[in-house]
Amino acid sequence: MRVHHLNCMPFHLGVENVTHCLLVETDDGLVLVDTGLGLRDYTAPVPFVRAFMALNRVPRDPEKTAVRQVMRLGFAPEDVRQIVLTHLHVDHTGGLADFPWARVHVYAREYEAAMGPRGISVKDRFYVRAHWAHGPEWVVHSCAGGRWMGMDCVRVVEGEEVEVLLVPLPGHTRGHCGVAVGKGEEWLLHCGDAYIRDSQVGMGAGTRAFPGWARWVERWLFPEESVRRLRELRRVYGGKVRLFCSHDPEMFFRLGGR
Ligand SMILES: [Zn+2]
Repeated sequence: MRVHHLNCMPFHLGVENVTHCLLVETDDGLVLVDTGLGLRDYTAPVPFVRAFMALNRVPRDPEKTAVRQVMRLGFAPEDVRQIVLTHLHVDHTGGLADFPWARVHVYAREYEAAMGPRGISVKDRFYVRAHWAHGPEWVVHSCAGGRWMGMDCVRVVEGEEVEVLLVPLPGHTRGHCGVAVGKGEEWLLHCGDAYIRDSQVGMGAGTRAFPGWARWVERWLFPEESVRRLRELRRVYGGKVRLFCSHDPEMFFRLGGR
């Protein structure tokens, strides 16, 4: 299994954070899991993205985009044929426009949450429609009842050497999913924003993210239910599955990210 770990939006909130994306080599071209911010965000962002970047202290560096990193790895942008998204928040969809030919896999509940009328939740503000104004080819999956490691899943890419699955982990957003990449006994589970500190699922030093007084914000952004399921997954299947989330740098670097 050939998987590259890319940081497509570094940011500074007290400590150095990452936005962990995957580039997976398959028999049928490259699959990108989450996209971070895109070229337009780094060069001419829409007002919401500009404010988001300033608040999170994101350096203006287009070299951090997935498309530039794909090219530095020696691939052509067109080699990225498919994109799989954990959810459609701003820091996960910015790179879509840099691969307009790619098929974009998303879970149906997330697609509806992002495309439908805006709810009252602040979390709905983080859907930035400008990120998909170019009209990507969406592939919208409802849960077809597949099973993986005791959890529901939808198979979105089936290959000889590697499969890619959407694993619903709602809470952060209504249709938020993890993305499992692997085959047989060797899997990665990109948990997106199901949690924010590796220590929440029993890994890492846990010395970052929210200070004690802001733990309620953390629980609201990253509800406990999915976190509990992931802890259980790790307890039972930890020998086969390596977990990581989008923004904690610890697992990113441990998995060879750069
Ligand atoms: Zn995020």
